[in-house]
Amino acid sequence: MSNAKGALVLFSGGQDSTTCAAWALEHYDRVETIGFDYGQRHAIELTVRPAVLQSLRRISPEWDARLGEDHMVDLGLLGKISDTSLTRDVEITMQANGLPNSFVPGRNLLFMMVAATLAYRRGLDVLVGGMCETDYSGYPDCRNDTMVSLEQTLRLGMATALSIQTPLMWLDKAATWDLAQQLGGDALVECVRTETHTCYLGERGALHDWGYGCGHCPACELRARGYQAFRKSA
Ligand code: ZN
Repeated sequence: MSNAKGALVLFSGGQDSTTCAAWALEHYDRVETIGFDYGQRHAIELTVRPAVLQSLRRISPEWDARLGEDHMVDLGLLGKISDTSLTRDVEITMQANGLPNSFVPGRNLLFMMVAATLAYRRGLDVLVGGMCETDYSGYPDCRNDTMVSLEQTLRLGMATALSIQTPLMWLDKAATWDLAQQLGGDALVECVRTETHTCYLGERGALHDWGYGCGHCPACELRARGYQAFRKSA
């Protein structure tokens, strides 16, 4: 168990942030969660959050005791000032700069900064995020260099010993499923599979072996491919 005062997990209700929440619950005595409403096209991610948190409580009495408040923050500003397929009803396509138009410039920077402000007030000194540059869409604000630099900036700008932890940074999607298995066994894998939401299109009709989703958007493809690789290696 870490000596930190406590952790604030950036928690969207998706596979990655749910695995990060479980990771934090294994490592810190006190864990709180923060979610952001920024005018996402599909609010499903936000509506699955409370159910996922309840499931985490049921998986382990220790986790239940450590898990504290969940905070929802309205960042509608982000939807107003950016033009992306996550906030507008347009098809997901690749842009000339090699990034899909689901990229919301600066999103993770803003999320981390707002989380740092809340953590300061709540007396928490670790921010946990599911950023990953192994199996990802190339978003520059998911890169390790960005997070290391941002941690420095937040420490300087807030005069705190805040740290940013990104337990998924060097894992591919199969390894992320495997981490869930190690942290919370079959119960956590089942929670991630059936309760979390990753699909960019907000599709939640049919339950596939890897979970709910349209099956063909970049987020579904990554999740499905990772699940199959995880099952093969299990
Ligand atoms: Zn999808």
